Amino acid sequence: MAISTSKVLAAVYDERVRQDKKWGQQNWSPSFYLAILAEEFGEVAKEAVEYTIAGLKGNESARMFRRTNIVKELIQVAAVAVAWIEAIDRHDCGVAEACPCITYQTEHKHAGEQA
Ligand SMILES: [Mg+2]
Repeated sequence: MAISTSKVLAAVYDERVRQDKKWGQQNWSPSFYLAILAEEFGEVAKEAVEYTIAGLKGNESARMFRRTNIVKELIQVAAVAVAWIEAIDRHDCGVAEACPCITYQTEHKHAGEQA
């Protein structure tokens, strides 16, 4: 049976909650978020390679293990993308890459924000 979109999105939501519990609110620069996303994307690629190799070797249990890992890593890719969108929304000062509030994990108030 095919998994529903709502179940996939619920898994992404759960991963976002897990990330915040583990790391706290993250506010990185666009280039660093891109690096985080690339790291997660790379993990998907690794699992995809291992999945294919397991299939070529006829190792069904290893193939299923890698299949599960591909899904986990794709959920992490999606959750990082969501986190990045949330960070962009928190930091709409227009300074983008040069904005110190999204370059470093420091407290920062934009003009007009309440202390
Ligand atoms: Mg990962």
